Amino acid sequence: MIRLQNITKSFGKHEVLKGIDLTVNKGEVVVILGPSGSGKTTLLRCINYLEKPNDGEVSIGDFTLNCKRPAKKDVVALRKKTAMVFQQYNLFKHKTALENVMEGLVVVRKFKQEEAKKISVEVLEKVGLGEKLNHYPSQLSGGQQQRVGIARALALNPEVILFDEPTSALDPELVGEVLSVIRKIAKEGITMIVVTHEMGFARDVSNHVVFMDGGHIIEEGTPDAIFNHPQEERTQQFLKRIT
Ligand code: ATP
Repeated sequence: MIRLQNITKSFGKHEVLKGIDLTVNKGEVVVILGPSGSGKTTLLRCINYLEKPNDGEVSIGDFTLNCKRPAKKDVVALRKKTAMVFQQYNLFKHKTALENVMEGLVVVRKFKQEEAKKISVEVLEKVGLGEKLNHYPSQLSGGQQQRVGIARALALNPEVILFDEPTSALDPELVGEVLSVIRKIAKEGITMIVVTHEMGFARDVSNHVVFMDGGHIIEEGTPDAIFNHPQEERTQQFLKRIT
């Protein structure tokens, strides 16, 4: 289980997260929705301390990080429990697909080359890139590059995968292949938190939907509750605007 308690974050005087509490159960796929600037990406990045919250706690399983003054080793421990898929893929341009996936396993997790290679080939096959192991990012489409990003996250076998708008940098015709890979791994019971603007995908992949606005969670519930029976006016207005 993942638990966020009273996460607050300001950039200068701008308070972007105003005390977020959120619980994500093991195996759940949680989608975070909300208007631009509502704090979705910032919240996601606070979960693995890529963004340093001003206050609050992040718990994953029985491990808790007090965000105010964490020990460095606790930040490392937290990061080991998470993996992130970025909007812009963030691949090493001078490394092949296989080397990109192996990197975290060898450098951070200290796996031996041979074992890292075996795991990396498996996850690249899982995302449909078994034929592209030795291709460089420049030789891959955006959708394929993002699938390498997903394979890299899967290889780390984290307790949660954090997806930050994973399809928003893609040409429309490439969005489907990435969403279908995410759907496939969601079915395997991996806990995921996904920030996305893809409403159809959000509706059918998630078990739990969180709607944020102005640095607050305004409403959360099942996809049916949020999409078909939103209770809060701000949620209703947001959904009206975008669907
Ligand atoms: P979008 O859907 O447009 O990606 P979002 O809901 O993910 O938006 P965030 O990216 O979390 O929103 O940004 C929330 C607010 O925090 C915005 O006003 C943004 O300008 C501000 N912000 C985010 N990162 C920084 C930063 N590094 N420095 C200063 N302000 C920032």
